[in-house]
Amino acid sequence: MKLNLLCLLVFVLCLVGCGTKNKVLQSASIVKPVDISGTPDTIVPEVNLIVDSPIVVLKSAVDTLSSDQRFSERVLTPEEKIQEQKRTGIHKGADWASAIHYDLRKPNFVIIHHTAQNSVAQTIRTFQVEHSKVSAHYVIGRDGRVIQMLNDYDRAWHAGRSKWGQITDMNSMSIGIELDNNGKEPFPDPQINSLLLLLDTLKTKYTIPHTNFIGHADIAPTRKDDPNVFFPWKLLAERGFGVWYDESFLIQPPFNFSPIDALKIIGYDVSNEAAAIKAFKRKFIIKEVNEILTAYDRTVLYNIYKRYY
Ligand SMILES: [Zn+2]
Repeated sequence: MKLNLLCLLVFVLCLVGCGTKNKVLQSASIVKPVDISGTPDTIVPEVNLIVDSPIVVLKSAVDTLSSDQRFSERVLTPEEKIQEQKRTGIHKGADWASAIHYDLRKPNFVIIHHTAQNSVAQTIRTFQVEHSKVSAHYVIGRDGRVIQMLNDYDRAWHAGRSKWGQITDMNSMSIGIELDNNGKEPFPDPQINSLLLLLDTLKTKYTIPHTNFIGHADIAPTRKDDPNVFFPWKLLAERGFGVWYDESFLIQPPFNFSPIDALKIIGYDVSNEAAAIKAFKRKFIIKEVNEILTAYDRTVLYNIYKRYY
């Protein structure tokens, strides 16, 4: 009889134990809001509920609070700002689901400049002072020394207000190379040799079309004249960077040839025709850099246009 009582006691204890275990299991099921908004610093409170049926809280992909509101209480660090911009994209109200296949965008143009300064040191100082708001990826000294100042994938501030074809944001598309030159002098051989080596690397690495090696004056003809008339565009074109024409075999343009249309097709912004013509002549005619197109200039323009575009 005592044994029976003992058995009953053990059975009752077992029942109580199992019940507790069941409750422990229930309390272990943590119900989290399902967050597909990707907000890195969204705090998800862990909810320990002892309930019969678990509650699944589905959070809308579009938060009720806009990202602006969410961060309005404090000033974001630059890194947070970039993260937030990446997360929200342009369409701030859209859902966010991260794609996994992507990489950084590549430069597709090279813009060549002269520094209009007196030394590499002066140029580097200019690019490193707070107020200048200008930069370039590379600076090449007269002695051929190459200094890299930005990663190729970064967006340098070298083009300024500019246009080439339909592209109005050249900084986003290009690598900027500054040649140490005061604007009135030839470019020494060691400098050009280093440039050619660099261009070769960039062309191969980013598959940049040969027509996309251009000068600052090409994309900003009303404001800029660099690189100056001494820059060897012909040599560059022979090596596969930029365009030139066969001086020994120039085809005459047809009677209905429109030089302004040709300049436009090549890429020049012809909203100021005189400036576009001057930029073209500085680069391809070299002598008589003015805004008048002679018969010879028209022929050169026609041959470049016909050869490449
Ligand atoms: Zn420039």
